[in-house]
Amino acid sequence: MIIYDLCCDSQHRFEGWFRSAEDFDSQLERRLITCPQCDSEVVRRVPSAVAISTTPREGEKPQPESATQVSAALPVGSQALALYRQLANLMLGASEDVGTAFAEEARRIHYNEAPERPIRGQTTDEEYEALQEEGIGVIRLPVIKKEDLS
Ligand SMILES: [Zn+2]
Repeated sequence: MIIYDLCCDSQHRFEGWFRSAEDFDSQLERRLITCPQCDSEVVRRVPSAVAISTTPREGEKPQPESATQVSAALPVGSQALALYRQLANLMLGASEDVGTAFAEEARRIHYNEAPERPIRGQTTDEEYEALQEEGIGVIRLPVIKKEDLS
């Protein structure tokens, strides 16, 4: 399932759930997607922030909460570590490092004030929670050192 942020021609924002991107295109083409507030069939997709947050900053204490979540999602063993490194490499390589401006930039992307793109950076707990409350998608990762990724 994928969730798209949608917007009608009266600027009502709502979410749509689709099986796939093709499913969305097909439903849009057949005018099956309508605004829940005004029934308008003129609906378009609006970008939502794709954001990756690495935490904590070097020298800071690790967050036990997020560390638990991450390790729980991983199978055990060297193969898992290799997979995790691959994934981390991919995300680090594909995202733009905005450093401590992360929360601000994620918000700008979410509200269409900045180009939609994957970003990474650091947040405080407060910033992270605020982003979550605003419905901005953020993933927290334990910090990864460059030398661990080779
Ligand atoms: Zn509407």
